[in-house]
Amino acid sequence: MAEPGAKVVPLKSRRCPMCRSPAADRYRPFCSRRCADLDLGSWLNEDYRIASSEEPDAGPDEDEPGPE
Ligand SMILES: [Zn+2]
Repeated sequence: MAEPGAKVVPLKSRRCPMCRSPAADRYRPFCSRRCADLDLGSWLNEDYRIASSEEPDAGPDEDEPGPE
């Protein structure tokens, strides 16, 4: 359902979310395969970060070096 009064944006005026260059039909919404890959990479990174952030942090006392 389109909102009433919403402007229809032609594809040609779309811009690459990565670098703001005009998007290419072939790689939309990106301007190039490079930007599409970058976006995919950022998604993967985010996913990885979320997964690895579940690691519990070691307490500051745990890693304390003993006195000599
Ligand atoms: Zn781009």
